[in-house]
Amino acid sequence: MGLLDVFRPDQVVHGVTSIDLDALAERGIEGLLIDVDNTLIAHGVGELTPERLDWAERAVERFRVCLVSNSMTGRRMRRLANTLGIPGLAVWHWDRKPFTGGVRRAMRLIGSTPRTTAMIGDQVMTDILAGNRAGLHTIWVQKIAEAESIFTRILHRPLEGRIVKRLGCRHEDATEAEEASPDEA
Ligand SMILES: [Mg+2]
Repeated sequence: MGLLDVFRPDQVVHGVTSIDLDALAERGIEGLLIDVDNTLIAHGVGELTPERLDWAERAVERFRVCLVSNSMTGRRMRRLANTLGIPGLAVWHWDRKPFTGGVRRAMRLIGSTPRTTAMIGDQVMTDILAGNRAGLHTIWVQKIAEAESIFTRILHRPLEGRIVKRLGCRHEDATEAEEASPDEA
């Protein structure tokens, strides 16, 4: 165990569509908390791509799912949650990721516990750290696009780059086997 282990994702995948839902169910996961920006949709984009929509619908059929987005207004998050027919939380102030208040509230919303919940997100400094601190199974996806908030770009990404390098976590190392879910093969 090292000091940086609180940042270490349990799983590293290329993107949400690479997440093996069967494997998650087999490990006892019942609830999914999913980040919005650059995890499900690109920054500033409102609609899911057909591939991600298909994955999200399959996830919603099988798991209790809640969106958790660091956002003051949560407008895009709410639209997405409505599309998928699931709850969503816009978390800010002391509830925002990497704090654990929002994550805990989301678990209460879907009636799941840390042991049976996975946190899925593109940022180690917020999504993964919050998930690990709350005791969830954490899955780090590669960000969808380069564009992101200036806050993320300046405050989080440089530090994230240094930490994942020390941890030896790279999306490039995510295996093809992890990528292909049985439905897509
Ligand atoms: Mg994000």
